[in-house]
Amino acid sequence: MSDDKIETHVLPSLPYKDDALDPVISARTISFHYGKHHKGYVDNLNKLVAGTKFANLPLEKIIAETTGKADKTAIFNNAAQAWNHAFYWRSLRPKGGGEPPAVLKQKIEASFGSLDACKKELATMAMAQFGSGWAWLVLDGDKIKIVKTGNADTPMTTGIKPLLTIDVWEHAYYLDYQNQRAVYVDAVLDKLINWDFAAENLG
Ligand code: MN
Repeated sequence: MSDDKIETHVLPSLPYKDDALDPVISARTISFHYGKHHKGYVDNLNKLVAGTKFANLPLEKIIAETTGKADKTAIFNNAAQAWNHAFYWRSLRPKGGGEPPAVLKQKIEASFGSLDACKKELATMAMAQFGSGWAWLVLDGDKIKIVKTGNADTPMTTGIKPLLTIDVWEHAYYLDYQNQRAVYVDAVLDKLINWDFAAENLG
């Protein structure tokens, strides 16, 4: 067995304690969102791929090979949700928000005019996603853009590079904000968003 083979997909550790994002995102939300939802996607994926050619592939490859295939929808959904959630936890940090690193800030200003305009568009896109899904800051060629995806979909499958994401499924905010998605999104953008992570993803 070579070291680069993945026997089963594991739930990655949270990059902070479960109460570290409180009061913007409570430990109670994290306990369900990470401990039940994210874990559920990983567990379901492991069941679905056991004994198949996907069993030993990294998530990115599973996503690439199952996207748009009607007979592989369940595998795609669980692999993409496992990837999206790991990426979402890293898109947040305690005492986040503030100013992006210069290299990212420059690109944001070139694309949107200002950081505020970029944050506003991220919030608008998060609200425009009808039902469950994700709002993303992405790198498309040399341009920073904002896109949304429904359900498990990820911009990766269209050749666009994700920089950070905000989960706008109701399970991400309902315990703390009930139906007020906009309040959750604004609080995340002001207090938790991890611009350093987005800058690292510029590559
Ligand atoms: Mn979620």
